[in-house]
Amino acid sequence: CCSPKVCIVGSGPAGFYTAQHLIKARQDVEVDIYERLPVPFGLVRFGVAPDHPEVKNVINTFTLTARNSRCSFYGNVNVGKDVSIEELQQAYHAVVLSYGAEGNRRMGVPGEDLAGVYSAKDFVGWYNGLPSCQELSPDLNCETAVILGQGNVALDVARILLAPTDILKKTDITQPALEALVQSQVRRVLIVGRRGPMQVACTIKEFREMVNLPDTRPEMMADDFEGVKEALKDLPRPRKRLTELMMKTALEIPSEKEQERQSKASRVWAFRFLRSPIEILANPDNSRTVGIRLAVNRLEGSGDGARAVPTGEVEDVTCGLLISSIGYKSLPIDPSVPFDSHKAIVPNNMGRVQHTAGLYCSGWLKTGPTGVIATTMNNSFDTARSVVEDMESGTVDVSAARPGSQSISGLLEERGVKPVTFSNWEKIDSLEMSRGEASGKPREKLLTVEEMLQVARK
Ligand code: FAD
Repeated sequence: CCSPKVCIVGSGPAGFYTAQHLIKARQDVEVDIYERLPVPFGLVRFGVAPDHPEVKNVINTFTLTARNSRCSFYGNVNVGKDVSIEELQQAYHAVVLSYGAEGNRRMGVPGEDLAGVYSAKDFVGWYNGLPSCQELSPDLNCETAVILGQGNVALDVARILLAPTDILKKTDITQPALEALVQSQVRRVLIVGRRGPMQVACTIKEFREMVNLPDTRPEMMADDFEGVKEALKDLPRPRKRLTELMMKTALEIPSEKEQERQSKASRVWAFRFLRSPIEILANPDNSRTVGIRLAVNRLEGSGDGARAVPTGEVEDVTCGLLISSIGYKSLPIDPSVPFDSHKAIVPNNMGRVQHTAGLYCSGWLKTGPTGVIATTMNNSFDTARSVVEDMESGTVDVSAARPGSQSISGLLEERGVKPVTFSNWEKIDSLEMSRGEASGKPREKLLTVEEMLQVARK
């Protein structure tokens, strides 16, 4: 009799892939996507590194979904604040939470809040134009930067700190970040991990990009690879290939051509293994960081499950910039929704939120903050399948009509919240692209919510 109405919270990859699958699986379903910011696409816009434009092509698929007549986008709506989950549940047959992981894990060591210490989340948000991070203006007036963590995000940050700005100026990096990087004094980046080379969390593509980064040379330590060769044969293939490339970088004498390239390089990067932060060191008046005290670890066990155990030895490293890249973290946005604060996810079974019929989750909120866009896509398709199954089995009763956006729009209007539609966003999009064109970049992003809203409503 009536069309099932589904509401999705968050317009990152999880939100869009969930919507895409729902629309395809059922010809009658209508999907509304609510997004806190005036602009869509989550970490594809605000996380993925500016020098990875090919990764952002998923935006084309998301745009097709958004333009489907059965999909609507409501940007500038902060769910949990402007409208509650319970209100959404009353208006829709099903609600899918896919609002990602907007918090970050803290190191939990003294000195974490000193000037010169940043989370990778904020640093990435700064160079990618996330409005809430534009005040960061990190001080790059130092020679050595330490990054804690050895995952792909850590390598993104290392690359942005070291890449020749001639490369960056052709990307969609923000103008203030580009200017700061042109002035940057950072010449050396240490990428520190608490375990060994066989436990790093990055993938080979990102490591290879470091090896090939113009005007830089690696400074790996041969000793770190003792015994690694013998362990290679038992490693799964992707880990084996990555470890081989790290070993080659650390141990092999480069070709003559490569030696010449390296000798001319003005910047250095290195991995440091078996080190955990103990304390961030401050200057005498305690106003900013001048280094970090690290515990030296040894490994107990082997493979992915190996544990870092402190040996009792410590090591101080001098640095003026410290970026902790030890993980993102989902946050609860509404007290009515179950939340596992230990795992920092919404507890679920195939995307069905525990004990709450008609409520689902997908993406990083469902799995925790790991996995590339393709992983997020698969787990979002799984959630969409659960929604469709529940509609078919009657667990979600779609026989009675629900008002959907009609009632929510009324509530938002009463509260003075004016949503941004997808065609409003397309105005921002075309302005950003034409501004970019003028300066030889694919896009020049708007940096404040006010400016975004102004352009959207023109
Ligand atoms: P998100 O992308 O974070 O989307 C969540 C959305 O919800 C956001 O738009 C947010 O504004 C919105 N939201 C939050 N709170 C609310 C609220 N209260 N109300 C309404 N909306 C809300 N993967 C790759 O494949 N390749 C890469 O190169 C790559 N680089 C990455 C670089 C970084 C720095 C990071 C952090 C991740 C990277 N990833 C990459 C992984 C990829 O970004 C994730 O797999 C994916 O974005 C997770 O999707 P999501 O939709 O769950 O979360």
